[in-house]
Amino acid sequence: MSNVFEKTDVTYFQMPQALVRDEHLQQISLSALKLYCLVLFEAQRRTRLDHELLNEDIERFTGLSANSVSSGRNELVTLKLVRCKRGFGGRYTYTLLNPDTGTELVQSNTKASTRRYNSTPPLDKLSRDQYRHYFKNRLARREWSDTGSQIYTNCPFPDHDDRKPSMSINLAIGKWTCHGCGRAGGVLHFEQYLSQCDKRTASKNISRIFGAKVTGDLLELGNPEAIYDYVDEQGEVLFQTVRYTGKQLRQRRPAKKGGGFVGGIQGVRRVLYRLPEVLAATRVIITEGEKDADNVAKLGLLGLDGKPVAVTTNPLGAGKWLPDYSRFLEGKDVLIFCDADESGLEHADDVANSIRDLANTVDEIVFQEPHKDVSDYLEEKTAAQLVEFINQKTKMQWLQGAIAKEEMLITV
Ligand SMILES: [Zn+2]
Repeated sequence: MSNVFEKTDVTYFQMPQALVRDEHLQQISLSALKLYCLVLFEAQRRTRLDHELLNEDIERFTGLSANSVSSGRNELVTLKLVRCKRGFGGRYTYTLLNPDTGTELVQSNTKASTRRYNSTPPLDKLSRDQYRHYFKNRLARREWSDTGSQIYTNCPFPDHDDRKPSMSINLAIGKWTCHGCGRAGGVLHFEQYLSQCDKRTASKNISRIFGAKVTGDLLELGNPEAIYDYVDEQGEVLFQTVRYTGKQLRQRRPAKKGGGFVGGIQGVRRVLYRLPEVLAATRVIITEGEKDADNVAKLGLLGLDGKPVAVTTNPLGAGKWLPDYSRFLEGKDVLIFCDADESGLEHADDVANSIRDLANTVDEIVFQEPHKDVSDYLEEKTAAQLVEFINQKTKMQWLQGAIAKEEMLITV
């Protein structure tokens, strides 16, 4: 034991970052903390996650009484920081545990564990329990109430002396608002305001609390509301559009290594939304945006020839149609749904001009107030009304009067 505190080779295995957390430090007694430090040092020195310590050695090195050693040991066991097995003559075998799971840590050398950490895809969605874990950790010393979906608390930021619970935190999406100081945001800004630190430090603190890296979008914007896959001819995901609260959209692509996604689609092949369906169809509806495309696709519209109508859109929204998309529509009858605003009208013209020479026919439907777009329209009207509207507005009868879905409802 004499060389416990000697400089040791600390690279053999990596202590998990979450091993000692703020909430532990707040509730742990000094004797438990001293014992825990000794257990960690000894594990480091022997490069083992389990090892035997003699009570009298612990007393000598920590200056604790026999009673304090015993109560400290019980505390560490209760906090699931160690497991203890009693031996003879005041000997105990201590095994280090992962406090998040209460299970044994895996021993490995640093290089391997670093590689594993780096190759683990960052978290891009968090559960309510994960968000609760974070906010609970950050509000540890404050009063707060938890309704299951929301946390209410006095604003914890040091520059806001809040006397009533002005802050509400939404645990489904991980976003918060303070009705006192008027600030709002995701976990990144919460951490910055709370710890008065820069983005880098805030994001490190957050990763430590979650026990894993978190993507930048999730840190700033919270959980996604919807994720839209853009796939190639074989259905392989090329990239995604992710929608966050407040109609914020981000694009991301699959990471080359280790799974998960990375931000941006620079250099990624661009295709139309729901490409395989577009290629298989003879009639195609083009909407502005993925939400509209999905809403119309759900209706199961059929062309006059009885074949399913494909519904698509281009990535990145209005004004972002690329000439390259037009070849996917060669020889097809195309109907463009035009949003009732200036950028919508301009966009529809761009698309029509780009495909006119390649497509068999091109028609346009302009939605009008009070319906800004087709999703708006469908909130008030039925699918049958939409079909009628389309057939009236297009030169030729574009759709079958009956809709696949409604027909199914009748026949089942
Ligand atoms: Zn505030």
